[in-house]
Amino acid sequence: MATTRPHLDLNIDGVVAELETLARISEAEPPVVTRVVFSEADQRARAYVKDLCSQAGLTITEDAIGNTFARWPGTEPDLAPVGTGSHIDAIPNAGLYDGCVGVLGGLEAIRVLQQLGFKPQRSIELVIFTAEEPTRFGIGCLGSRMMSGVLTPEQALALRDREGRGLEELRTAAGFSSSIESVALRPGRFEQFIELHIEQGPLLEEEGIDVGLVTHIAAPASMRILVEGEGGHAGTRLMPGRKDALAAAAELILALETAAKATGAIDTVATVGICDVFPGAVNSIPSRVRLETDIRDIDAARRDRVMETLRSACADISSRRGATITTELINADPPATCDKEILGALEDSAKAAGKSYKKMVSRAYHDSLFMARIAPVAMLFIPCRDGVSHRPDEYASPQWIGSGVHVLARTLAVLAG
Ligand SMILES: [Zn+2]
Repeated sequence: MATTRPHLDLNIDGVVAELETLARISEAEPPVVTRVVFSEADQRARAYVKDLCSQAGLTITEDAIGNTFARWPGTEPDLAPVGTGSHIDAIPNAGLYDGCVGVLGGLEAIRVLQQLGFKPQRSIELVIFTAEEPTRFGIGCLGSRMMSGVLTPEQALALRDREGRGLEELRTAAGFSSSIESVALRPGRFEQFIELHIEQGPLLEEEGIDVGLVTHIAAPASMRILVEGEGGHAGTRLMPGRKDALAAAAELILALETAAKATGAIDTVATVGICDVFPGAVNSIPSRVRLETDIRDIDAARRDRVMETLRSACADISSRRGATITTELINADPPATCDKEILGALEDSAKAAGKSYKKMVSRAYHDSLFMARIAPVAMLFIPCRDGVSHRPDEYASPQWIGSGVHVLARTLAVLAG
């Protein structure tokens, strides 16, 4: 059926060239991208992207930790802006699309609307978040965590990298010296926020779908569990009365798996990714085990029930086996539900653009998870080859990027009015 599908004159070759230029600003040899926050490469990458934003006539401000806001003023500049954006930092040995597609794709969406002569009522603001990746400080989404107030300035200032350098030292060395108290944004600072991102999973490509409309962002809770039993000689210490810490830990791992499956929800996942055994000798009964768990869901209450089940399993196994089991909650970020109005606008835009779409869950977490604390948010996914991400061979085709930018541009136009 021939419908009106106004053509958007996207310059996707230009976006790809910009992505490639950004990728060459790396601490590793191309094609490997490594760009840790506040490194020299991160500084150069920021300068490059800010320069592109300036060329597009955007007004740039930065906060005390380098979160960057590039604003296209609307005709009513006092109204809260519609935000879009993502991150440009990259874990060691990464590729060139994670985060960067959302930043440079967001910029292209703004540029194409400018070229159309569109005059948004609300300002449209491109956001480049500081340190989405946990590489330096061991905590993900530093910028958006602080913007949303989830991470307080005191907690942030206590962060240290592996060399023992703190956020204060690193941010000032990078040229960010305003008050760290001013990073947190008030709810309402953004009217809405949309993040364009590669899926980092295989579904869209497998199903041949142009874009994914993210309805929920799952969030992890992680718990550290220390099991203390009694060591001894593996030969002379007979089975009765043993307090084998690893055998107790094994029960715990299975109890967690059972608890996650028992919710009956496909979105509940639980993993024990770390199991440190002490003393770790073949002829010695393990006396101490440290487990680290990652429990995720899109439903916070359901996830918390799994955590509760795990805690009661700890108590039960401890009393049956005479081992001491202690738990420490490392973090429990709340999952986010995406905003219906934005999702509706994304859906309408996908239809108008002639792009196929499906609703889906983001099982990785993103800056949008934290932005959801202070603004209505949604995410727009594009396919990535074989679902590969966080690797140098991460790839999204120009066509996939074009679909994402097209739908984003239309949606921004609708929301900014
Ligand atoms: Zn990312």
